[in-house]
Amino acid sequence: MEEFTSNGQEYSGKVAAFADNSGSTRKKLALHACCAPCSSYTLEYLSPEYDIELYFYNPNIMPEDEYLKRLSELKRLTGNFENVNLTVGEYDTERFLSLTKGFEDEPEGGARCEICIRHRLEETARFAAKIKASCFSTTLTISPHKNAEFINFTQAELEKTIGVKSLSLNLKKKNGYLRSIELSKKYNLYRQKYCGCLFNK
Ligand code: SF4
Repeated sequence: MEEFTSNGQEYSGKVAAFADNSGSTRKKLALHACCAPCSSYTLEYLSPEYDIELYFYNPNIMPEDEYLKRLSELKRLTGNFENVNLTVGEYDTERFLSLTKGFEDEPEGGARCEICIRHRLEETARFAAKIKASCFSTTLTISPHKNAEFINFTQAELEKTIGVKSLSLNLKKKNGYLRSIELSKKYNLYRQKYCGCLFNK
């Protein structure tokens, strides 16, 4: 597992440079994106170092209007960054509902959220393997409501089973969350009032 924390923060280990047929030596990161506000600072922070393959895989977001609104805002945001490409995953809400069946009444941060987050990270790791990325990660650690330790632990497990390096982050540190609010204002981004699923609305 790699830990990326530049801007004066710790950075343990270097991810091997990704060399494609064009001879590029920039590293390629498959980055799960939950929404535009969380992606704003994450992209500002990581895009100087990586070519970013953003992966919008969020079958937990309901209703569909909300899902499409968050996706549309993310597309608008990515236009402000170079070296960022966006791929949209399958919107398979039935899969999410079946995985979380029996955990509907759990509070945010409980077992339902662990299942939800693990599923999205696993699909991102599979996407990373498919596109031959150097590593994978997520924008989720920027949220004060998300447990970065659990996310990084889950990524490390997926690194072992899927075989793509996990990039360990905790973006809420060093005022990352506050910076995401500033950038949301700058780009006039829609900031949702709930995490995503209807159980938490
Ligand atoms: S509250 Fe958020 S993380 Fe938890 S299950 Fe719902 S959408 Fe997933």
